[in-house]
Amino acid sequence: MEKIYNYINGALVEPVSAQYIDNYMPAEGRVYSLIPDSDKRDVANAVTAAQAAFESWSGMTVEHRAAILQRVADLIDRDLDALALAESIDNGKPVSLAKVVDIPRASSNMRFYASGAIHFASETHITGKEAVNYTLRAPVGVAGCISPWNLPLYLFTWKIAPALAAGCTVVAKPSEITPMTAFLFSKLCIEAGLPAGVLNIVHGVGPKAGQAIVEHPDIPAISFTGGTVTGRSIAATAAPMFKKLSLELGGKNPNIIFADCDWEQALATSLQSSFSNQGEICLCGSRIFVEKPIYEKFVADFVKRTKELTVGDPLDSNTRIGSLVSQAHMNKVLSYIDLARQEGGAILTGGKRVIIPGRCESGYFVEPTVITGLDHQCRTNQEEIFGPVVTIMPFETEEEVLRYANSTPYGLSATIWTENLKRAHRVAAGVKSGIIWVNCWLFRDLRTPFGGMKQSGVGREGGWEALRFFTEAKNVCIKL
Ligand code: NAD
Repeated sequence: MEKIYNYINGALVEPVSAQYIDNYMPAEGRVYSLIPDSDKRDVANAVTAAQAAFESWSGMTVEHRAAILQRVADLIDRDLDALALAESIDNGKPVSLAKVVDIPRASSNMRFYASGAIHFASETHITGKEAVNYTLRAPVGVAGCISPWNLPLYLFTWKIAPALAAGCTVVAKPSEITPMTAFLFSKLCIEAGLPAGVLNIVHGVGPKAGQAIVEHPDIPAISFTGGTVTGRSIAATAAPMFKKLSLELGGKNPNIIFADCDWEQALATSLQSSFSNQGEICLCGSRIFVEKPIYEKFVADFVKRTKELTVGDPLDSNTRIGSLVSQAHMNKVLSYIDLARQEGGAILTGGKRVIIPGRCESGYFVEPTVITGLDHQCRTNQEEIFGPVVTIMPFETEEEVLRYANSTPYGLSATIWTENLKRAHRVAAGVKSGIIWVNCWLFRDLRTPFGGMKQSGVGREGGWEALRFFTEAKNVCIKL
């Protein structure tokens, strides 16, 4: 069976324990490769390598660093098909989606931060005729980057690229549930000539390998994307050590549809924002609020289109909904559908596991599910399900929908559909979310700040924000 290796000090190596854990192919429900079960000894080796590489990497000209990162991006582009296939096999997502979203965005992360670092400037403040203050920004040192399973290579590179571009060396851990593309990425880094020790990838489970990264005294900055409960535990460990922390956490995002929306656009995009990647995107709009005059028609049309989505083999190009990432996650999603029933919800379509005949018959497939008849305060509408499940609720006024939208502990993203410009601005200002899309969804400009409010996270990634995060600012004041 294929073995995945850690990438430490420029080499692919076994874990110190020589122990491996099973890696599942979710569409077939079977083990297909093995992952290092790394522990604090592997993390310690990775930190030692990263420390040794820091001086020359951070001292290299930014153009030279950028050129190496661009080469990594070129290799991602060269291997796009193979990486998309690996991502689909590892995660269960349709290969067609991995080809147009996950892998191209991984390559743009590398390119964006390679060139971003070249254009990064620090501030100067002229204090009248008395003084000049300028800000010196130096890379923080060894950065810890920990990522989740839903957009594996995309979110892994989203953290690593700015850290490396800023001049940090890195110890990174991808999710143990989807480690394969990070492993392939480590091979591309070797091929691209990334100097040994600059990036180190330690595979393994969160409470062991992840925790060892967070606890390590020589890692002063942690960039984490994952669940809110994990984020809380990471913050509890890192805060007393005064580490820099960036936490990108869960969401329960509102999708607000006013009666004056562009009907076709709102409907088609809401279908995507509900069910893309099996609903396993932190930015999916899992609570749809529809203004009363169009509520009945929206529900009818939305259910009709949901029924047309093909659930199937992720490797089939017609498949729109692939497999959920694991059996445990499938059971969690199904248990929320049961909860919705108990809370009085009506399941208008979906609600069950799907058995796909043939190679995928043991896979973890769930029908796209639409639920109505629930109050905004019930658990189904308060807790993150992270699967192909949406609820639809009617509203009458802006004030009412803002109250519903803001009623969860989360505040990651929101979508607003209206052709009324003033209303769009008003509602965007009123929604407590870090990212708000008006008449679109998942549109990204990498220069914009990205992150959540409330329990959806602390800090902002994206653009200069990420480059600032991985640097330490020093002010130099010169008296004139
Ligand atoms: P998770 O929190 O279970 O795991 C994320 C990563 O943290 C994994 O690599 C895991 O091994 C590691 N980890 C677990 N325990 C750890 C510990 N004690 N110390 C250090 N590391 C630890 O999350 P998941 O199930 O992989 O991902 C799904 C969650 O991620 C959802 O809640 C989703 O909303 C969220 N997410 C958020 C964003 C965002 O940008 N805000 C993006 C994608 C996913």
